[in-house]
Amino acid sequence: MQKAPHVTDYLTRHCADDEYGCLRGFEAQGGYRAAHTALREMTPQKILDEVRQAGLQGRGGAGFCAGLKWSFMPAPEQQPSYLVCNADESEPGSFKDRLLLERAPHQLLEGILLAARAIGAQKSFIYIRGEYAEAARVMQRAVDEAHAKGYLGDDVMGSGFSHDVVVVRGAGSYICGEETALLESLEGKRGHPRVKPPFPAQRGAFDRPSTVNNVETLCHVPHIIGRGAAWFRSTGTEKSPGTTLFGVSGHVVRPGLFELPLGTPLDEIIFEHAGGVADGRKVKGVIPGGLSMPILPAGELDVAMANEFLQEKGSALGTGGIIVMDDRTCMVRTACVISEFYRAESCGQCGPCREGTAWINDIVTRVERGTGTAEDLELLVDICDGMEGQTICAFADAAAWPVRALLKHFYADFERHVREGVCSFSGSFQL
Ligand code: SF4
Repeated sequence: MQKAPHVTDYLTRHCADDEYGCLRGFEAQGGYRAAHTALREMTPQKILDEVRQAGLQGRGGAGFCAGLKWSFMPAPEQQPSYLVCNADESEPGSFKDRLLLERAPHQLLEGILLAARAIGAQKSFIYIRGEYAEAARVMQRAVDEAHAKGYLGDDVMGSGFSHDVVVVRGAGSYICGEETALLESLEGKRGHPRVKPPFPAQRGAFDRPSTVNNVETLCHVPHIIGRGAAWFRSTGTEKSPGTTLFGVSGHVVRPGLFELPLGTPLDEIIFEHAGGVADGRKVKGVIPGGLSMPILPAGELDVAMANEFLQEKGSALGTGGIIVMDDRTCMVRTACVISEFYRAESCGQCGPCREGTAWINDIVTRVERGTGTAEDLELLVDICDGMEGQTICAFADAAAWPVRALLKHFYADFERHVREGVCSFSGSFQL
């Protein structure tokens, strides 16, 4: 992993150290101290209030305030309620949670303990992407270590609070990252998103109240509880506090993960931390937050990487996965790759999504091959209009946004294919 030495890096500072993955090494760096104190001295409400005051936004894509989400859980009863950690990291361009799972598993477990205490959950599930076999192995080992030390199970750390964690392997479907599809899959059913309401806090896993939080989101929690909301708010922006892990991929000199404050300018991340564009080329476009987020053209890279600023540019932070494309890139081919992915991953429950993703992919493929028409380009916009806000989950919106943004910023590429009847971007990637 590449590090930027002058910035706050509390989540990943010790991730290069193999010992940090073990209980002893984690404790040597102050691990579990926040849980030791909070489980004995703080009420669940006080933990929740601290996280809410910190303004921690979910890092899984939607950016919803974590403390507010926790507050939707009903008061604890005799029947169980659950915390579900969404470790089904599948967004193309995103690979941050994998590092946290494989290199800092006890940091996540400590976050889970604190979050579970705050919402009154008796059991947690860590739903790990099926392909993340090593992450699942490391997490299971960490759970076993924590149990042996009395950090999980009955009367955790002598606090009177009891909690178990179950590691679950996902079945390898992108849509299982959507929280209600994840819950269905967790229950052993096909991973289809649920109609909402009811929301998970009302009826979640196994029909019980549940909260679903992303891996990175939970990893921030011990640091907030250990050092306080004011400390957390001293980094990042007023509306988007703290750091996050930006994953940079594509045509850059040093692809990798960089933990930086939210609000760091996109051009600083690309040109300073990731070493700039490879082969001395220029940037053509950048997807700022994983494949679903609308692309930004080269002229808009001075934007601060936080939702309140990216939304002004018509995009969003998403998962912080930054995909850089140089000036040889054919944006029609890019649309082909993106639309093929969404076509394959739609769960098929909703007509606008099932048909729209296939239709978009058919059209951009024929435009790329040189048999598309000007009417096809207008039709693409109409199809996107018919998909957004019309379906059970946000997948259809996420499939439409990238195509709409590619047309908006790179219409000339599409027109050129229609006019010339061929793709003339000879240096672009191949399909
Ligand atoms: Fe499935 Fe797409 Fe409907 Fe989501 S929008 S439920 S992925 S068909």
